[in-house]
Amino acid sequence: MANILDKISGASKGVSDMSKSASESNNLKKKIAYEQERIQEVMQEIGKQYYANPNGDYTALCADIDDRKRRINSMRSDLQALKGVRICGTCGTRFDEKYSFEFCGKCGTRLASE
Ligand SMILES: [Zn+2]
Repeated sequence: MANILDKISGASKGVSDMSKSASESNNLKKKIAYEQERIQEVMQEIGKQYYANPNGDYTALCADIDDRKRRINSMRSDLQALKGVRICGTCGTRFDEKYSFEFCGKCGTRLASE
């Protein structure tokens, strides 16, 4: 019983993922741009503080930059996973977008086009 429910929710999740992927990748792009701006600001802050005090401790600011870079990297791979992929809502097979066939090669379901 639990297995059947899992399968049903899994299938409907596949469908909503398909329609959501465009807005999701826009969201990720915005977040990446935001983190990149923040890194620039922190870099400038380090420059200013270093100019005022070359012997200061900048580990916290540098760690902040490292954190943001890590976040950007993980968002970039999320973005890569969303980009250029069509997902069959029925069986979940992923196809590269360059294959413009209308039907899933695995189960024959008509693929939604975006
Ligand atoms: Zn399929």
